[in-house]
Amino acid sequence: MRLKTKETKRTTDSLKHMDIRWLRLQGYLVPGTLIYLPLTKKGESMSCVGLRVEENRVILGNLLNSIRIFWIRCNYGGKRPWFICPGYNGRSCGRRVAILYCNGLYFRCRHCFDLTYQSRNESRFDRSLRKARKVRTRLGASRDLFEPIIAKPKGMHWETFETLDMEARMTTIRAFNFQFAAIEEKQKEKEKKTFLEIKKWLDEHGLDETALKIKLPL
Ligand SMILES: [Zn+2]
Repeated sequence: MRLKTKETKRTTDSLKHMDIRWLRLQGYLVPGTLIYLPLTKKGESMSCVGLRVEENRVILGNLLNSIRIFWIRCNYGGKRPWFICPGYNGRSCGRRVAILYCNGLYFRCRHCFDLTYQSRNESRFDRSLRKARKVRTRLGASRDLFEPIIAKPKGMHWETFETLDMEARMTTIRAFNFQFAAIEEKQKEKEKKTFLEIKKWLDEHGLDETALKIKLPL
Protein backbone atom coordinates (compact mmCIF):
# COMPACT_ATOMS: atom_id res chain seq x y z
CA MET A 1 0.00 0.00 0.00
CA ARG A 2 1.24 3.44 -0.93
CA LEU A 3 0.55 6.52 1.08
CA LYS A 4 -0.14 9.60 -0.93
CA THR A 5 0.23 13.16 0.17
CA LYS A 6 -1.89 16.03 -1.08
CA GLU A 7 1.12 18.19 -1.81
CA THR A 8 0.35 18.45 -5.52
CA LYS A 9 -3.17 19.87 -5.15
CA ARG A 10 -3.71 23.54 -4.37
CA THR A 11 -5.61 24.34 -1.22
CA THR A 12 -8.38 26.89 -0.71
CA ASP A 13 -6.23 29.05 1.51
CA SER A 14 -3.58 29.41 -1.20
CA LEU A 15 -5.79 31.85 -3.14
CA LYS A 16 -7.41 35.17 -2.39
CA HIS A 17 -11.16 34.97 -1.99
CA MET A 18 -14.43 36.85 -1.79
CA ASP A 19 -17.28 35.77 0.48
CA ILE A 20 -20.81 36.83 -0.50
CA ARG A 21 -21.97 36.61 3.12
CA TRP A 22 -19.40 39.21 4.04
CA LEU A 23 -20.44 41.45 1.12
CA ARG A 24 -23.99 41.28 2.31
CA LEU A 25 -23.09 41.92 5.92
CA GLN A 26 -21.27 45.07 4.84
CA GLY A 27 -24.40 46.19 3.01
CA TYR A 28 -22.67 46.17 -0.38
CA LEU A 29 -25.15 43.97 -2.23
CA VAL A 30 -27.28 46.87 -3.30
CA PRO A 31 -27.58 47.73 -7.01
CA GLY A 32 -25.55 50.83 -7.76
CA THR A 33 -22.76 50.07 -5.28
CA LEU A 34 -19.35 50.86 -6.74
CA ILE A 35 -16.36 50.44 -4.44
CA TYR A 36 -12.87 49.04 -4.03
CA LEU A 37 -12.66 46.01 -1.82
CA PRO A 38 -9.68 44.43 -0.11
CA LEU A 39 -9.07 40.78 -1.00
CA THR A 40 -7.87 38.53 1.74
CA LYS A 41 -5.71 35.43 1.86
CA LYS A 42 -5.27 33.55 5.12
CA GLY A 43 -6.94 36.45 6.89
CA GLU A 44 -4.42 38.97 5.56
CA SER A 45 -5.41 41.75 3.24
CA MET A 46 -3.59 41.31 -0.08
CA SER A 47 -4.86 43.65 -2.78
CA CYS A 48 -7.96 45.47 -3.92
CA VAL A 49 -10.59 44.78 -6.52
CA GLY A 50 -13.34 46.99 -7.90
CA LEU A 51 -16.85 45.84 -7.08
CA ARG A 52 -19.86 46.95 -9.08
CA VAL A 53 -23.26 45.71 -8.03
CA GLU A 54 -26.09 45.49 -10.51
CA GLU A 55 -29.51 43.89 -10.36
CA ASN A 56 -28.81 40.22 -9.54
CA ARG A 57 -25.15 40.30 -10.49
CA VAL A 58 -21.79 41.68 -9.41
CA ILE A 59 -18.80 42.61 -11.49
CA LEU A 60 -15.53 41.94 -9.74
CA GLY A 61 -12.67 43.84 -11.33
CA ASN A 62 -13.58 43.48 -15.01
CA LEU A 63 -16.18 41.88 -17.24
CA LEU A 64 -14.43 38.50 -17.10
CA ASN A 65 -15.91 38.36 -13.67
CA SER A 66 -19.51 39.24 -14.19
CA ILE A 67 -21.07 36.93 -11.63
CA ARG A 68 -24.73 36.22 -11.29
CA ILE A 69 -26.30 36.40 -7.83
CA PHE A 70 -29.13 34.15 -6.84
CA TRP A 71 -31.32 34.86 -3.83
CA ILE A 72 -32.91 32.00 -2.00
CA ARG A 73 -35.75 32.46 0.41
CA CYS A 74 -35.13 31.01 3.84
CA ASN A 75 -37.91 29.30 5.74
CA TYR A 76 -37.44 31.62 8.70
CA GLY A 77 -38.05 34.62 6.47
CA GLY A 78 -35.53 36.76 4.66
CA LYS A 79 -33.38 35.59 1.81
CA ARG A 80 -29.83 34.47 1.31
CA PRO A 81 -27.55 35.38 -1.61
CA TRP A 82 -25.36 32.94 -3.53
CA PHE A 83 -22.85 33.46 -6.29
CA ILE A 84 -23.54 31.42 -9.43
CA CYS A 85 -20.12 30.34 -10.66
CA PRO A 86 -19.88 31.00 -14.41
CA GLY A 87 -17.37 28.21 -15.06
CA TYR A 88 -13.78 28.14 -16.14
CA ASN A 89 -11.59 27.08 -19.06
CA GLY A 90 -14.46 26.58 -21.47
CA ARG A 91 -16.40 24.51 -18.99
CA SER A 92 -19.65 25.77 -17.51
CA CYS A 93 -20.22 25.39 -13.81
CA GLY A 94 -23.40 26.95 -12.41
CA ARG A 95 -22.72 25.93 -8.83
CA ARG A 96 -24.25 28.02 -6.08
CA VAL A 97 -21.40 29.03 -3.84
CA ALA A 98 -20.76 31.48 -1.03
CA ILE A 99 -17.07 31.91 -1.77
CA LEU A 100 -15.22 32.66 -4.99
CA TYR A 101 -11.46 32.32 -5.29
CA CYS A 102 -9.23 34.49 -7.44
CA ASN A 103 -6.42 32.98 -9.49
CA GLY A 104 -5.14 36.41 -10.47
CA LEU A 105 -7.56 36.98 -13.33
CA TYR A 106 -10.73 35.02 -12.66
CA PHE A 107 -13.04 34.66 -9.70
CA ARG A 108 -14.43 31.15 -9.72
CA CYS A 109 -15.54 28.46 -7.27
CA ARG A 110 -13.20 26.01 -5.60
CA HIS A 111 -14.42 23.18 -7.84
CA CYS A 112 -13.46 25.07 -11.01
CA PHE A 113 -9.95 25.70 -9.69
CA ASP A 114 -9.76 22.19 -8.28
CA LEU A 115 -8.92 23.42 -4.81
CA THR A 116 -9.02 21.25 -1.75
CA TYR A 117 -9.48 22.13 1.88
CA GLN A 118 -6.33 21.13 3.68
CA SER A 119 -6.93 20.33 7.28
CA ARG A 120 -4.39 20.80 10.04
CA ASN A 121 -4.19 17.03 10.43
CA GLU A 122 -3.42 16.60 6.74
CA SER A 123 -0.56 19.08 6.82
CA ARG A 124 0.77 17.48 10.01
CA PHE A 125 0.50 14.12 8.30
CA ASP A 126 2.46 15.40 5.27
CA ARG A 127 5.19 16.70 7.55
CA SER A 128 5.50 13.55 9.61
CA LEU A 129 5.39 11.39 6.46
CA ARG A 130 8.33 13.34 5.03
CA LYS A 131 10.26 12.89 8.27
CA ALA A 132 9.56 9.17 8.43
CA ARG A 133 10.66 8.70 4.82
CA LYS A 134 13.86 10.64 5.42
CA VAL A 135 14.86 8.31 8.26
CA ARG A 136 13.90 5.25 6.22
CA THR A 137 16.05 6.44 3.33
CA ARG A 138 19.04 6.75 5.70
CA LEU A 139 18.36 3.16 6.76
CA GLY A 140 18.29 1.99 3.15
CA ALA A 141 14.65 0.94 3.56
CA SER A 142 11.68 1.43 1.25
CA ARG A 143 9.84 4.77 1.38
CA ASP A 144 6.66 2.81 1.93
CA LEU A 145 5.88 3.05 5.64
CA PHE A 146 4.20 -0.35 5.60
CA GLU A 147 7.40 -2.11 4.48
CA PRO A 148 9.69 -3.49 7.20
CA ILE A 149 13.18 -2.20 7.86
CA ILE A 150 15.22 -5.31 7.21
CA ALA A 151 18.92 -4.79 7.66
CA LYS A 152 21.54 -2.42 8.95
CA PRO A 153 23.25 -0.61 6.07
CA LYS A 154 26.88 -1.61 5.61
CA GLY A 155 29.32 0.58 7.49
CA MET A 156 26.69 2.00 9.88
CA HIS A 157 27.37 1.64 13.57
CA TRP A 158 24.91 -0.55 15.45
CA GLU A 159 24.21 2.25 17.86
CA THR A 160 23.32 4.63 15.02
CA PHE A 161 21.19 1.95 13.40
CA GLU A 162 19.25 1.32 16.59
CA THR A 163 18.65 5.01 17.17
CA LEU A 164 17.46 5.54 13.59
CA ASP A 165 15.34 2.40 13.69
CA MET A 166 13.60 3.69 16.79
CA GLU A 167 13.15 7.09 15.15
CA ALA A 168 11.63 5.43 12.08
CA ARG A 169 9.14 3.63 14.29
CA MET A 170 8.18 6.78 16.18
CA THR A 171 7.77 8.91 13.05
CA THR A 172 5.69 6.15 11.43
CA ILE A 173 3.36 5.99 14.42
CA ARG A 174 3.04 9.78 14.37
CA ALA A 175 2.27 9.83 10.63
CA PHE A 176 -0.38 7.12 11.00
CA ASN A 177 -1.84 8.94 13.95
CA PHE A 178 -2.29 12.18 11.96
CA GLN A 179 -3.61 10.34 8.95
CA PHE A 180 -6.14 8.59 11.10
CA ALA A 181 -7.31 11.90 12.51
CA ALA A 182 -7.49 13.41 8.99
CA ILE A 183 -9.66 10.51 7.78
CA GLU A 184 -12.00 10.88 10.74
CA GLU A 185 -12.19 14.62 10.15
CA LYS A 186 -13.02 14.12 6.47
CA GLN A 187 -15.74 11.64 7.31
CA LYS A 188 -17.31 14.10 9.70
CA GLU A 189 -17.04 16.90 7.14
CA LYS A 190 -18.74 14.72 4.52
CA GLU A 191 -21.57 13.87 6.85
CA LYS A 192 -21.99 17.52 7.77
CA LYS A 193 -22.13 18.41 4.06
CA THR A 194 -24.87 15.89 3.39
CA PHE A 195 -26.78 17.15 6.39
CA LEU A 196 -26.53 20.73 5.13
CA GLU A 197 -27.52 19.69 1.63
CA ILE A 198 -30.66 18.04 2.95
CA LYS A 199 -31.46 21.14 4.99
CA LYS A 200 -30.92 23.32 1.93
CA TRP A 201 -33.22 21.12 -0.15
CA LEU A 202 -35.92 21.33 2.52
CA ASP A 203 -35.45 25.07 2.68
CA GLU A 204 -35.82 25.45 -1.08
CA HIS A 205 -39.02 23.44 -0.97
CA GLY A 206 -40.47 25.48 1.83
CA LEU A 207 -40.10 22.65 4.34
CA ASP A 208 -38.21 22.13 7.56
CA GLU A 209 -36.84 19.10 9.41
CA THR A 210 -40.25 18.14 10.76
CA ALA A 211 -41.19 17.15 7.19
CA LEU A 212 -38.76 14.23 7.45
CA LYS A 213 -40.75 12.77 10.32
CA ILE A 214 -44.09 12.74 8.54
CA LYS A 215 -45.33 9.21 7.80
CA LEU A 216 -45.86 9.05 4.06
CA PRO A 217 -48.39 6.78 2.34
CA LEU A 218 -46.58 4.43 -0.04
ZN1 LIG B 1 -17.26 26.83 -10.61
